[in-house]
Amino acid sequence: MSIFNSSVVIKQGYMVKRSQNKKLYTLVNYKKRWFVLTKKYLIYYEDDNAAKKKEKGRVELDRVHTIESAQCFFSNEEVGVDGELFPFLVGYHQDDDYTLFLLTIRSLDRVEWILAIREACANNKNVKYYFHPAPWNGRKWHCCKINTKLAEGCRECSTWVPIQNGSPSKDSVKENLKNKENINTLTDRDRNEDIDGIELLDELQFLSVVEA
Ligand SMILES: [Zn+2]
Repeated sequence: MSIFNSSVVIKQGYMVKRSQNKKLYTLVNYKKRWFVLTKKYLIYYEDDNAAKKKEKGRVELDRVHTIESAQCFFSNEEVGVDGELFPFLVGYHQDDDYTLFLLTIRSLDRVEWILAIREACANNKNVKYYFHPAPWNGRKWHCCKINTKLAEGCRECSTWVPIQNGSPSKDSVKENLKNKENINTLTDRDRNEDIDGIELLDELQFLSVVEA
């Protein structure tokens, strides 16, 4: 198999996946799945066990617009896993806008998955500048309590598309921020709330220093 083959596995492992609720009347659930990242897809299987290696879904990476650490919006009882869990999200657009919330058991796993998916999506266009770090619950956003589903995200995305690829620079993102007074108000209020993404950002910065 050539290393240029798009089906080559970049990263794989177990994560807990929150249901995406693409159908209107399904209940939220959490399932442990085996995830496989290739250059083109993030695919999830029922299990890594060959007998149960049934594909349950996949995200086309060129449709991804957001890859960020998420807020802890769930309880251990809900997820059915003990101990601390580290959530992140993959937002993408396919007919409609969807967010895949994923939970890792170790903090470092989350960092590694985010970096790997961002690298695979490095040339993506239309990446978002704002996101909601917690899900829409059918009535409001869990993070900012706004009750409009189409409301722009309440948190600023971190820059993850390399600047040399002709993507918007951090400065243009900042400029964009200045023009959005209403979002700034939300962001300021939101900054006071506890989010474990801050720690992740430090880790990411540390990793990028190490890799440089
Ligand atoms: Zn929000």
